Amino acid sequence: MRVVVLGAGYAGLTVARRLERRLHDGAELVVVDEADHHLVQHELHRLIRYPDLAETITVPLSAVFDRATVRQARVTAVDPGACTATLAPMDADADTETLEYDAAAVCLGAETAFYDLPGVEANARPLKRIPHATAIRADALDAAGGHAVVGGAGLSGVQAAGELAELARERDLGLDVTLLEMADRVAPTFAATFADAVRTELDARDVSVETGATVEGADDSTVALADGRSLPQDVFVWTGGIRGPGALDGERPALEADLRVGDATFVVGDAGAVVDANGEAVPATAQTAVQQARVAAANVARVLNDESVADPIEDGAPPSFREYRYEEAGWAVSVGDGAVAMVGPAVVTGDLARAVKAAIGAGHLGSVGAVERAATLVHEELGWPGTGPIDGTTLAAALDRYGATQATDPSNPAALERRLVGPLLALSDSLGLDGAVDLTDVTRVVDRDHPGSPANFLRRVASAPTDLAGGVRVPVLGATEGEDPDGGAPADE
Ligand SMILES: Cc1cc2nc3c(=O)[nH]c(=O)nc-3n(C[C@H](O)[C@H](O)[C@H](O)COP(=O)(O)OP(=O)(O)OC[C@H]3O[C@@H](n4cnc5c(N)ncnc54)[C@H](O)[C@@H]3O)c2cc1C
Repeated sequence: MRVVVLGAGYAGLTVARRLERRLHDGAELVVVDEADHHLVQHELHRLIRYPDLAETITVPLSAVFDRATVRQARVTAVDPGACTATLAPMDADADTETLEYDAAAVCLGAETAFYDLPGVEANARPLKRIPHATAIRADALDAAGGHAVVGGAGLSGVQAAGELAELARERDLGLDVTLLEMADRVAPTFAATFADAVRTELDARDVSVETGATVEGADDSTVALADGRSLPQDVFVWTGGIRGPGALDGERPALEADLRVGDATFVVGDAGAVVDANGEAVPATAQTAVQQARVAAANVARVLNDESVADPIEDGAPPSFREYRYEEAGWAVSVGDGAVAMVGPAVVTGDLARAVKAAIGAGHLGSVGAVERAATLVHEELGWPGTGPIDGTTLAAALDRYGATQATDPSNPAALERRLVGPLLALSDSLGLDGAVDLTDVTRVVDRDHPGSPANFLRRVASAPTDLAGGVRVPVLGATEGEDPDGGAPADE
């Protein structure tokens, strides 16, 4: 019995780690990725400004799994009918191999779509992997006094533009940054309140945002727009769209809520275009990739449904598959040194948003066991808790930096110290200890159903007008008064 997980991004890592717990030792679990590491892709734009962060946001696959076998190879084809995947070894001289499977999760992510726009692929940098971010940084440092153009204002585009603007300011490059979006606002697939706050952060960093601007082509010094204009460019970043992985012929297969493309093959994350159990088209994000992965892991176990699974369904009836239902836990993006976070209906900016963004990254790293990287990320992003010993004075100073006057009052249920800084402090403390590290404090940071998590805290304050520390006012936008603070669905299987 062999289960294969193709790709070890957010989706693949989550599927494989869940299956490690659900499959008995007799079942072979193979994870294939062309990289030898997992990339925390939602922090990739940071490398434009902080190249040293590369190590922090990559986790060696050899350190992630308990019992899965990791194969480093390029997947070139998947045949759900025959239950096979074709692997090309990284050593170009070696032969390709056909890997047979009993069940598979295809988690190969997306590739950048250039839509055959003349000259765009040849003259633009995509932003999907570390060398892309490195190349964008190098282009920008070489382009003093010039022009940077970012095409596409989704999550990656707005964050790339923010980093470029901040890099230009810090290095006094005199590089102007333009962000182009064909829709009528930035972050067009997200709530208008969130998009407006992102726009404000971009404006504050002098990013020239042009909406309703459609890129038609490019050459080595200009970007051509549909309205006939030609914008000069010395740096051109293309974040204008995604397409499916080469192994799926560049398509993102249309998936129903059970995520199946064959009797025993599931496509998970950016690689597929999912319509969930409510009939809603699901955005391609890290958050949805992880949510889908939980469903896919459960469905892989149902396909096997035999002694290799810890909890087979015993009544002999064909297993019914679990269906994915999109749940929006909120969003957090950085825009240079600024940030915007949306939790439930509440949109916050400033230090609190930066803290939420850092906590999400740290929570993800912590959840795959990369505790030290999690702490480094928090330190790099927030400059906190600092390198010295943690004592009352250090804590007070750190809290002051958050303007968190309420935070020092332990009886105040909204205290940041209890809700966010506390867990980060515990994480930092734990690194000083030998032996086992309890990850609960890290992972709960992003668990909206945990009573102590900031996500839950924000959800609750959204139901009552509250002045948060630092003058951030959380708006009340239709949340239900008296909502069960610990409510919500239990964690997925
Ligand atoms: C700059 C940037 C910022 C972003 N910010 C956010 C954000 O704030 N919030 C959010 O939710 N999302 C964000 N996203 C989107 C998010 O990163 C993706 O939606 C997410 O990575 C999708 O997860 P995945 O597991 O489907 O694919 P990926 O994370 O892309 O993983 C795919 C894996 O498959 C491997 N692989 C690919 N092709 C092959 C092959 N042929 N053979 C073998 N292995 C292969 C890759 O090496 C990789 O490990 C951002 C993306 C970018 C680029």
